[in-house]
Amino acid sequence: MDVLKGDLLKSINDIPRTIFSEDHVLFRQAMEDFVLSEVVPNHEQWEKNKMVSKEFWLSMGNNGFLAPQIPQAYGGMGITDFRFNAIISELLNRAGCSGPGIGVPVHSDIVVPYIIDYANENIKKKWLPKMASGEVVGAIAMSEPGAGSDLQGIKTTAEDKGDYYLVNGSKTFITNGFIAEGYVVAVKTDPKARSRGISLLFMDAGMKGFSKGKPFQKVGMHAQDTCELFFDQVKVPKMNLLGKEGEGFKYMMDNLPQERIIVAQCGISAAEGALESTIGYIKEREAFGKPISHMQTIRHKIAELSTEVQMGRVFMDRCLELHAEGALSNIAASQAKYAMTDLQCRVIDECVQLHGGYGYIWEYYIARAYADARAQRIYAGSNEIMKELISRPIWKNRKQ
Ligand SMILES: Cc1cc2nc3c(=O)[nH]c(=O)nc-3n(C[C@H](O)[C@H](O)[C@H](O)COP(=O)(O)OP(=O)(O)OC[C@H]3O[C@@H](n4cnc5c(N)ncnc54)[C@H](O)[C@@H]3O)c2cc1C
Repeated sequence: MDVLKGDLLKSINDIPRTIFSEDHVLFRQAMEDFVLSEVVPNHEQWEKNKMVSKEFWLSMGNNGFLAPQIPQAYGGMGITDFRFNAIISELLNRAGCSGPGIGVPVHSDIVVPYIIDYANENIKKKWLPKMASGEVVGAIAMSEPGAGSDLQGIKTTAEDKGDYYLVNGSKTFITNGFIAEGYVVAVKTDPKARSRGISLLFMDAGMKGFSKGKPFQKVGMHAQDTCELFFDQVKVPKMNLLGKEGEGFKYMMDNLPQERIIVAQCGISAAEGALESTIGYIKEREAFGKPISHMQTIRHKIAELSTEVQMGRVFMDRCLELHAEGALSNIAASQAKYAMTDLQCRVIDECVQLHGGYGYIWEYYIARAYADARAQRIYAGSNEIMKELISRPIWKNRKQ
C-alpha cells in the first residue's frame, strides 16, 4: 500500500477554525492518535475483508468515539455538541479510511438519533448501551430495489397483527448492512397512502425471517459492508415502532438534514486529505530533472485547489456551527451536501491527474480516494434531489 504522503490530519487552510473550544482540540488530538494507530494500519485488510473489524467498533466504543450524544443513563457520554461527532468523521475521512469514514457517521449520527428521539424506553435501555460500546452496530434501511430517491414509493409492508407487525419486503444498498445488528427500517403500515403510510420500526438481525445479502462488490469504499436485507414474514413487536404510526416520513425529513451535513463533512474532509497527500507526492516526484512541484502550472493547480478547499471548509464550519446550535436550515444542509460532495469529486479528480499513472493504481491512496468519492454524490439524497430541494423555495414566492 502507498505510504500516506504529507500530513493528512493537518491542513494547509490558514483561515483559523473558530468553531472549536479547548475541549474540542483535546478530543481531536485523541481521535487523531486513534486514527493513526488503530485505523490507518488496518484499513487495507478491512478492504480485503469487505468490512471493518468488530474489534474496531469495540475499540471506538471503548474510547468514547461512538455516538457521544447517547445519554449517560443509557451508557453514553451525554455530549450533545455535534462538533464532537463532526471531528470523528473529519479525521476518518481525511485519512482516506472510507470504511469507518462512512460507517461510523451512519451509526452515530443517523441511526442513534432515531432511537434516542423516537424509541420506547425498553428499546433504549436494551440497545443504546450496546451502540455506545460498539457491541451493536446500527444501520438505516430506507432504500429499496424499486425506490431510492422516491422514498414515498417504498413497498416493504408492515401489517398490523394486534401486538406485532408482520413485515415483508426488502431493502438495498444498506451501509453497515452486514455487520449491523440494529436497524431502523422504513416500512409501509398503510400501503395505499404515500408519505402518511410510512412508519419506522426498530428491527434486530436476530428476528426470525430477517436475512442479509452478501456485501456488494462496489466501485469504491471496499471496507464498507453495503448489502441487501430481506424480510420474510418477520414478526416485529409493537413496542419496536419508533414514534407514531404513519409519522415515519416526517421523522426522516426531520433527521435528513443531519445526514446531509455529516456527508458534506465527510466530503470536504476527504478533499482536504487528498490535497495534502498530493502535495506530499508532487514534492517528491521528479520529471525533467526536478520535483514536479517546481513546475508553475502545477503550483497554480495546487493554488486553485487549495482555494476551493479553503472556501469549502469555511462554509462547512459555519454550517457545523449553526447545526450545533440547532439553527441550520434544511436548504443550507442540502447546499452543503451537494457542494461539498461535488467539490470532493472535482478536487480528487485533479489530484489523480497530478499523480500521473500512479494515480490510477489501486495501491495508491489517491486512486482509492477517487473510487470512494463517487458514491457521495448519490446517497443521502442524490445531488439532483438536493438541487430540487434548494430550488423549490427560490421559485415558491415569485410570480415568474
Ligand atoms: C454506497 C451506497 C451506500 C448507501 N447507503 C444507504 C443506506 O445506508 N441506507 C439507505 O436507505 N440507502 C442507502 N443508499 C441508497 C441511496 O440512498 C440511493 O441509491 C439514492 O437515494 C438514489 O436512489 P436510487 O439508487 O434508487 O436512484 P434513483 O432514485 O433511481 O435515481 C436515478 C437517477 O435519477 C435522478 N433522479 C431521481 N429523481 C429525480 C428528480 N426528481 N429530479 C432529478 N433527478 C432525479 C437521481 O438523482 C439519479 O441520478 C446507498 C447507496 C450507495 C451507492
